[in-house]
Amino acid sequence: MNGKLYLCATPIGNLGDVSSRCLEVFNSVDLIAAEDTRRTIQLLNHFEISKPLTSYHEHNKHEKGGYIISLLKNGKNVALVSDAGTPAISDPGEDLVKLCIENDIDVTSIPGPVAGINALILSGLPTRRFAFEGFLSVNKRHRKEHLESVKNDTHTLIFYEAPHKLKNTISDMRSAFGGDRKIALVRELTKLHEEVKRCTLDEAAAFYEENNPRGEYVIVVEGAVETENSEENVWDNISVKEHVDKYIAEGMTSKDAIKKAASDRNLPKRDVYNEYHRGD
Ligand code: SAM
Repeated sequence: MNGKLYLCATPIGNLGDVSSRCLEVFNSVDLIAAEDTRRTIQLLNHFEISKPLTSYHEHNKHEKGGYIISLLKNGKNVALVSDAGTPAISDPGEDLVKLCIENDIDVTSIPGPVAGINALILSGLPTRRFAFEGFLSVNKRHRKEHLESVKNDTHTLIFYEAPHKLKNTISDMRSAFGGDRKIALVRELTKLHEEVKRCTLDEAAAFYEENNPRGEYVIVVEGAVETENSEENVWDNISVKEHVDKYIAEGMTSKDAIKKAASDRNLPKRDVYNEYHRGD
């Protein structure tokens, strides 16, 4: 019988956040696959757990993935641990989960800390709808394209960032989102110097002109204000006829209504006219 892969969330700072189930799993599995073995050894030593460890990270995930799958197929149980927090969130755990699914191997999760969600709930920004955007690329063009692609999203956005890239990222976000956009810079969660800075992108840029970013950061960004652009999709949900009739019902002439609907949909007026009068 195949073994099972346990995705074990570990603390993002405070060791008191490890769950008793997580420790039980560490004690029961045959092997722990860790993104950063040195960090995981410290955790295991703290809880006096002695278990075989192997590394599984971005640079060895292809060969190690195959090795871990072969162990699981031989009935061994494996715990997967990221350097901190929840595995498969901004780490190669995602690939191992996919491999397990392809190989019919059971995967289960042992829930616990995740930096992005804790930053979101502390941010004071809307939590009802949000998107996790992870790390921006180091490639300048890709970073810009990423930010441009989300600038009109009206839900809250969550980004991870390393301290030495924070100033650049704030500057790129300012260019893409505008300086008035609200953000929360959530730093060193669950640690001694935990801090939440709630401000605008302009204020953040001014602050980090004078101060150097220190520690681990999550950047939570307010969504865009609803504009005509963000209504674009609304037109996808109604027919051309309904669209034109809406403006006529609001008092426009049919000529103006056709012109406005054509502009909303970025279509030639003639196409909207023909569609509106089709079947007359
Ligand atoms: N798997 C982790 C999770 O569940 O959140 C994230 C791993 S990702 C490689 C590391 C990034 O998470 C850091 O660069 C930082 O953006 C964020 N992070 C991790 N620990 C944090 C903490 N204590 N406070 C703030 N951000 C943290």
